[in-house]
Amino acid sequence: MQTYSFCYSKALVLRIFWILVILFSVNTSGKAQDSARFAASIRKLSSKGMAGRGYLFRGHRKAARYIELRFRRAGLRPAGRSFLQEFQITQNLFPSRPKLRLNGRKLRPGRDFIPGPASPPVSGSFRLDSSQGILNKNVALLLKDKEAFKPNGTSNPGLILRRQSKLTHSLSENQSQIPEILVHESALQKGDSVLKVSISPSLRDLNTYNVMGMVRGTAEPDSFLVLCAHYDHLGSLGRNTYFPGANDNASGVAMLLEMARAIAKKPLRYSVLFVAFSGEEAGLLGSSFMAENPPVPLSNIRFLFNLDLLGFGEKGATVVNATVHPKEFARLQEINASCHCLPEIKARGKAANSDHYPFSEKGVPAFFMYLMGGPGFYHDIDDKPKTLSLKGFRGTFRLIMDFMRGF
Ligand SMILES: [Zn+2]
Repeated sequence: MQTYSFCYSKALVLRIFWILVILFSVNTSGKAQDSARFAASIRKLSSKGMAGRGYLFRGHRKAARYIELRFRRAGLRPAGRSFLQEFQITQNLFPSRPKLRLNGRKLRPGRDFIPGPASPPVSGSFRLDSSQGILNKNVALLLKDKEAFKPNGTSNPGLILRRQSKLTHSLSENQSQIPEILVHESALQKGDSVLKVSISPSLRDLNTYNVMGMVRGTAEPDSFLVLCAHYDHLGSLGRNTYFPGANDNASGVAMLLEMARAIAKKPLRYSVLFVAFSGEEAGLLGSSFMAENPPVPLSNIRFLFNLDLLGFGEKGATVVNATVHPKEFARLQEINASCHCLPEIKARGKAANSDHYPFSEKGVPAFFMYLMGGPGFYHDIDDKPKTLSLKGFRGTFRLIMDFMRGF
């Protein structure tokens, strides 16, 4: 009996031990799975096939289709008749590889130079000059980092070359008069005098898409919370040079996809609208379009939370509109104080720097949160998945989910 009872309790202890081991490993492997899926979504959206999620080589369309598929798999329903909200934009695009030589040296697009976003086509040979005095169409005027070009009605240069310590790309809806190129300072050499260039941008009208899906609320389905992130990025310069946009904003979209999964499994009191915007980098065009053409009345939106730049987090987060909505910000801080989700949350005022803005301007209460930390790759060809620490993933996920569940 003694022996038996000893064996019995030993067996029981062992059994409990294994149950705990299994429970613990299921729990942690669930979390590890979430992190792995988050990282995989970022890699997929930043891959070469997505062409920088721009408007060439079907990049934006592939990204939109991928997000729609993920929304469907998560169990979301379309917010309107379809998951896609179409709108039209005009963009200055670079379908063929830009070419530049300085004194015969071949410069690499993306790495050594990028064309100015509004540059018109240009090709030919130019004499390099840094004096704004004697200019004509055969001169490529070399300007310092922040030096302004002083237009002189009669004698403009044939090309403006801007020397930069960091190449930061952007987009344009039009073409300027004088062709422009940004050149990295490391690519310039003393004695450079001859510049050869061939750049052929084209101004195109095209259709792009916001991707929207929803999860119906359990208590008040006609009230909405919006979670959003822009999926578009800067696209490519020819076929081989593309802007991966891993931090900006594959990371925010990947977070949106995780939240869509979680909320579809366990809906909130209010309905939740998930939106992946296009046209953000082109000037908040997708969010402006949706704010004008909302799938649900804007007055029914209780709160909007915009996610952009979520690839780091070791230095915490910043919340735009924190000072506009102090009560909600205090609640976010309270949640963070108890969950220790992020090391710090900084408050910021109003800013027109992402997709929350067109909604804020129409009176929809909104936050935009971005994470801090990282090496500072921004709007360049180095914003790649492998550079991200993903340190803020779990904390941000929990913080925002708890905040949304509080409505
Ligand atoms: Zn951006």
